[in-house]
Amino acid sequence: TPVYRVALVSGANRGLGFEVARQLSERGMTVLLGARDLDKGLHAARQLAGAPGEVIAVQLDVTRQDQVDTLARWIEITYGRLDVLVNNAGGHYDPRANPANADLAPARDAMDTHLFGTWRLCSAMLPLMRRHGYGRIVNVSSGCGATATGGAGCPAYRVSKAALNSYTRALAAELDGSGILVNAVCPGWVATDMGGPGGRPVAAGAAGIVWAACMPEHVTGGFYRDGQRIAW
Ligand code: NDP
Repeated sequence: TPVYRVALVSGANRGLGFEVARQLSERGMTVLLGARDLDKGLHAARQLAGAPGEVIAVQLDVTRQDQVDTLARWIEITYGRLDVLVNNAGGHYDPRANPANADLAPARDAMDTHLFGTWRLCSAMLPLMRRHGYGRIVNVSSGCGATATGGAGCPAYRVSKAALNSYTRALAAELDGSGILVNAVCPGWVATDMGGPGGRPVAAGAAGIVWAACMPEHVTGGFYRDGQRIAW
């Protein structure tokens, strides 16, 4: 692993994103801890002070193009590069909703966060990876978004994660051979605010994301859980 790497994690003030930020900083990376509420981000970053890699809170609501652009400019000026992008920010998990419901607002919101949020960040940050021919993009998805998975629950969540998977494959194909690897990762069922108390420990879910973020070989365009390939 090269000596100096800069990573950006969205939705990192709590849950899986926070743990991913912690694990990347343990590996010595400089970690930009994205939070849409900067106070929460600053509080989270303080908890990670003293890790081998510096952790810096940055303002990032992935649905805000202006914030994404401002952050990309700041990273350019401050570091001149980005090595790892973890698109983790998420929500809109509503098991009571059903697909026949005509209320499209939650579906739009889920798409804006999971699909367009990721798309915005990738477009803005890719120039910071392309210039040194190295990048690891991890899109935190869900087995819920696998098109072979049945069930009616969480339609906005499900459809938006399926769209995120599709975007992952398209972007990986475009970037094949560039040194920038793009993969989707399902963390499994994890005990966060979203997952509830029944899930497995956050560290275990985050490990599969960090595995893809630190991928040494040319592995791109796949969907993984715990380092194992799963069906789209
Ligand atoms: P949490 O609810 O614990 O945390 C979600 C994080 O995303 C929070 O930091 C939240 O910020 C942030 N966020 C939400 N919307 C935005 C936005 N528009 N811009 C920036 N940040 C945003 O969820 P998890 O940690 O469990 O989930 C993380 C990812 O893992 C999600 O993509 C989720 O779909 C995925 N996942 C989780 C599973 C689980 O069992 N937990 C299973 C499969 C996938 P704030 O604090 O301000 O609300």
